Amino acid sequence: QWINLAELATTLQKMANPLLDERFELNFDIPNDSFIYGAYNELYSAFSNLVLNAIKYSPEGGNIQVSWRNTEVSGIFTVKDEGIGIDPRYIPRLTERFFRVDKGRSSATGGTGLGLAIVKHVLIHHSAKLQVNSQPNYGSTFSCYFPADRVRKDPLLQAVTNTDLAPTNDSQRE
Ligand code: ATP
Ligand code: MG
Repeated sequence: QWINLAELATTLQKMANPLLDERFELNFDIPNDSFIYGAYNELYSAFSNLVLNAIKYSPEGGNIQVSWRNTEVSGIFTVKDEGIGIDPRYIPRLTERFFRVDKGRSSATGGTGLGLAIVKHVLIHHSAKLQVNSQPNYGSTFSCYFPADRVRKDPLLQAVTNTDLAPTNDSQRE
């Protein structure tokens, strides 16, 4: 079904808030009329993994920006942090199951290395692609590219049209 991203973002915010302290700023920039066609639980687990990673790999806090934007060909969901970043040579391996960069250092934070493998599978299921940009010590940006036919500005328009065509319960009673 059509998933309202602003609504999903509210749930992400509630999930993340207890994990944040004053060193963090978590910002959402998601227009109210953004929708993805897909499975809510899957998209939530993918996006929450990206947000949890942004928090977990930012030991000094910083700004975490969650945003959505549309281009001609895609809808793009992005999580950007100012954390430890990732050495470019590891980027191709990030979505492998159980892969963790620098196991010694990240053992302090814990984790199984499955989060991004889940993200990858959810994105495949939604015909979407993951792009990672990162600079060690400056931060990382994870972007999910959804094809244009899976994104809408306003599925309500379609719902209204459908109501016009099909009799509602009220009109049946008349
Ligand atoms: P899990 O998500 O299963 O709890 P995890 O976070 O270690 O464990 P992934 O989410 O798959 O596993 O991430 C794999 C590895 O990629 C991480 O261990 C970390 O080294 C690196 N990584 C992921 N996201 C970031 C990020 N935002 N900044 C820096 N490194 C990251
Ligand atoms: Mg993770």
